[in-house]
Order: sequence, then structure tokens, then C-alpha cells
Amino acid sequence: MELLRQKILNEGILPGTDVLKIDSFLNHQIDVSLINECAKAWYSLFKDENITKVMTVEASGIGLACMTAQYFNVPVLFAKKTRSTNISDEYYSAKVVSFTHGQTYRIIASKKYIKENDKILIIDDFLSNGSALKALIALAKAAGADVVGAGIAIEKAFMDGGNDVRRMGYRVESLAKISSIKANGEISFG
Ligand code: 5GP
Repeated sequence: MELLRQKILNEGILPGTDVLKIDSFLNHQIDVSLINECAKAWYSLFKDENITKVMTVEASGIGLACMTAQYFNVPVLFAKKTRSTNISDEYYSAKVVSFTHGQTYRIIASKKYIKENDKILIIDDFLSNGSALKALIALAKAAGADVVGAGIAIEKAFMDGGNDVRRMGYRVESLAKISSIKANGEISFG
């Protein structure tokens, strides 16, 4: 999506060569009209899939997921992050290795809100190593639900996550695919 690529080039900040900061339009302040365009793009890609629920993980995915869900007219379920290992049976839980903080944590979702007959679209802001996306898939699969695919705003395609998840058989639709980030801060799209 050209609009998103331009926004990344104009406003993205690179403290190094791996983490891209997009606090001015997605991860802190939110450009609502931009995320609405992302939502419309995912709707047009997945509109024939009879989606019943949009899933994401707190916090940055929530805005994108809500904007998207209104086009499908379905609820959003955001997985919660918890550091506790003592998780009750009423929740599905999966482990995530945080890309940005390097820590391991679990995400949880109540068994009440994912059902076997759900057709789930996962939405998230970034796809890097794929840990967050695989954990969301694991929550949905634990309930026996069908994961129709994932809509990702920014995929760092030079990392393994996207291809891993595609190899697992899932459809992954990324609106901006970064093919490289050079040491001088130059971002290329694939
Ligand atoms: P993964 O699990 O695919 O390695 O990383 C996905 C999650 O880590 C996303 O939900 C996002 O919150 C965070 N993340 C991964 N890469 C970046 C990045 O370059 N910039 C920011 N701001 N967040 C990232």
C-alpha cells in the first residue's frame, strides 16, 4: 500500500537496523485515516471469507483490528499479555518471545470468546520473527477455530516470520513489506 510505504519513509525512525519506530502514526499517536485505509485493504482481500471474528494482541494491534472489524461487522478479540504462569483453565494461552523487549511472556484469551465455528482473521501491526502471530494462531487452533489468514501492516520480509507462517499453510497479507534496512537507515520495499 503506497500510502503506508510513504508514511514509513517519511516518519519511520530507526534507532538501529532492526526495530522500526512508527510512534507518530501507529504505535503511540494513531493516524486514523491511514489505519482506515489499511482496514479497507484487508476487507477487500478477505471479504469473501465469512470472517466471524478479528483477533489481535494488545496493545498496538487493537486500533487496526477495530477499524477492520467494523467493515466485517464482527467483534474484535484482543489477546491479553500476562507474565503469570498460573493461568486458569478458562483461558487459552500461548508463549510469545517479544521482538522489541527480548522477553518471553504469555498471551491469553478467554475460552468464552473463541469457538469451534469461528472463522478468524488475525490483524497486527508488525510481523518480524512471527512469534506473536504464531501464538495468536495457537490460541485460535486450541479452540478448534479456523484461522482464515492474517492482515499485517508492516512485514519485515528479511526476517523469517512471514515465510514460516506461510509455510504452515496460512494466508498472510502484508500491506508494506520491507525487504531490507541498511546501516545508513535506507529502507527498501519488496
Ligand atoms: P514478531 O513476533 O513477529 O517477532 O514481532 C511482532 C510483534 O513485535 C508485533 O506485535 C510488534 O508489536 C512488535 N514488533 C516487531 N517488530 C517491530 C518493529 O520493528 N517495530 C515495532 N515498533 N514493533 C515491532
